[in-house]
Amino acid sequence: MSQKLNNVKRYPLVLMLEPKFRSNLKSPLCGKTDYPDAALDEYLSPERCFYALKECGAPVVAIAGGEPLLHDDMPEIVEGLIKRKKFVYLCTNGLLINRCIYDYIPSKYFYWSVELDGLQEDHDKIVDKQGAFEEAVSGIRYAKSRDFNVTVNCTLYLHQRTKSIIEFFNFLTNDLKVDGINISPSYPYERASDQDHFLSRENTKRIFRAIFLSKKFKKWKLNHTPFYLDFLAGNQSYYCKPWSNPTFNIFGWQKPCFHLNEGYYKTFQELMEKTLWDQYGTGSYEKCADCMTHCGYEGAAIEDMYERPFKALSKKLFGIKTRGPMLPEINLKDARPAEDVYDRLVESKMYELDLM
Ligand code: SF4
Repeated sequence: MSQKLNNVKRYPLVLMLEPKFRSNLKSPLCGKTDYPDAALDEYLSPERCFYALKECGAPVVAIAGGEPLLHDDMPEIVEGLIKRKKFVYLCTNGLLINRCIYDYIPSKYFYWSVELDGLQEDHDKIVDKQGAFEEAVSGIRYAKSRDFNVTVNCTLYLHQRTKSIIEFFNFLTNDLKVDGINISPSYPYERASDQDHFLSRENTKRIFRAIFLSKKFKKWKLNHTPFYLDFLAGNQSYYCKPWSNPTFNIFGWQKPCFHLNEGYYKTFQELMEKTLWDQYGTGSYEKCADCMTHCGYEGAAIEDMYERPFKALSKKLFGIKTRGPMLPEINLKDARPAEDVYDRLVESKMYELDLM
């Protein structure tokens, strides 16, 4: 709100902090942990995390990765961020919650954000580990019993059935009683070994319309603006605002967003000023063609909400349109072709950090 009042055009809402890339899972659908071993072992110190936060000033920090609970200094990082009165979402696959929970204290500023992508069969298949669902659910139950806030982050893929997703959301709401559900269509990571189960924009809109048709829809605590949900259902046409969720990791400020690494800057100011933002987003860049994730589009929905508060309220009260024609899709014809930059970028950063 203060950024809007000060007429700031681009501002961060959520700092995506990646203090360590290593994970204890190896999902074929994950494109975030395909780094050389030396990079997977590298990590951000608490001081660098606090400095990144000071640079960008976002009100919310999502600690992602990799698996953040593998970072030895994670309790200190979380405590420091809370001390700075930031809302902290510790994004974990949930496998280590039971072991690590005693290092954390419940706070209104702190949320366990557990990645669960469906009921047991779906989730275990997606993360490629039998029993992962049970372990994560056990962690959620234990965290809830100790008065922690717990949200679930759910990414949807092509092979999941609508009926099963609806059952999953009912389970989160009625059985686990989680404090919020984040949903996102999958982003087609170029480094993921399985390229067959990501959602196209057309499939995303079809699936979300079917999910939102559920009679239980209003009972789910979906952690999103009504306009973002409306966008997922094909009723809003937004251009991505990737600067709303800037990403900081061992290589620096990642351009342009959490999903794409197309370059790095040393300072947040450089990221904001030097990134050619118009070159990214659906319709502008081939790698963005199928993206509808909240990383870039929730920021656009929030902007819209400030501009049309009554319309947003009516969406909240009367629900999302699930029938009838959708808005026409963005024209992809003029999108610039994908650039193959990953190997060159990672290699140069590895040299710079003396990790070769
Ligand atoms: S559309 Fe936006 S959030 Fe999605 S990959 Fe492109 S720049 Fe990133």
